[in-house]
Amino acid sequence: MLRKLIIAGNWKMNGSRQMAEALIGDVLAHYKVDAKTQVLLFPPAVYLAQTAQLLEGSAVHFGAQTVSEHTSGAYTGEISADMLQDMGCQSVLVGHSERRSLYKESNEDVAAKFMAAKQQGLVPVLCVGESLEQREQKITLDVVLGQIAAIIEENGVNVLENAVIAYEPVWAIGTGLTALPEQAQQVHQAIRQYVADLNEEIAKNLPILYGGSVKPDNAKQLFAMADIDGGLIGGASLKSADFLAIIEQAQQVEK
Ligand code: PEP
Repeated sequence: MLRKLIIAGNWKMNGSRQMAEALIGDVLAHYKVDAKTQVLLFPPAVYLAQTAQLLEGSAVHFGAQTVSEHTSGAYTGEISADMLQDMGCQSVLVGHSERRSLYKESNEDVAAKFMAAKQQGLVPVLCVGESLEQREQKITLDVVLGQIAAIIEENGVNVLENAVIAYEPVWAIGTGLTALPEQAQQVHQAIRQYVADLNEEIAKNLPILYGGSVKPDNAKQLFAMADIDGGLIGGASLKSADFLAIIEQAQQVEK
């Protein structure tokens, strides 16, 4: 086994204290911790303290769904990487497609957030992906590799050490449409090759997750692909039975 499979749940703006307690309780009760998998939860920021408390001493990691690029100061409503680290977060999502499209985060904004996370020792999960229109125009790789280039051109490829990439075709997020395993693998392989051309060791260790309507009935085929190292799960991470079933599917993958 080269890389662990990461099963990450992005709750987006869903949940409540009660829901967090029940869901995290179910995950802790039923996830059979093994050396092959790492479970990671991204609850809304207001539930991070509760999440930290519930997960204390467990093997499950957690983080926030976004982070400010600034370290502190007059940025009303924002949360810094330092604060996330202070709350016990190990990780943070950056550049999720909803942040890029709804909150107009540019590649440069995402790069700054990525670096802010790194500077505090958080593992950034960099989300990349093309829209349906871009796929139809056959510019998927230009878009995806461009989103990654925006980070490494400025900061060097070494910043991908202790980082994660999540390939999430925008047309597959929350739509019920999933990329075929071979379709996703093609993009994952291209990402790994792009990084390998700059640094083979970093590419070999880089977890590249797939996201976009991952469900219990398609997870195993996706995770079995050579360059797919787990999933970033939205909708299905809100139902503990589905999320746990996806974790189990990952645990059954042999590669
Ligand atoms: C996501 O939010 O990153 C995601 C992939 O959502 P869904 O699984 O609901 O498509």
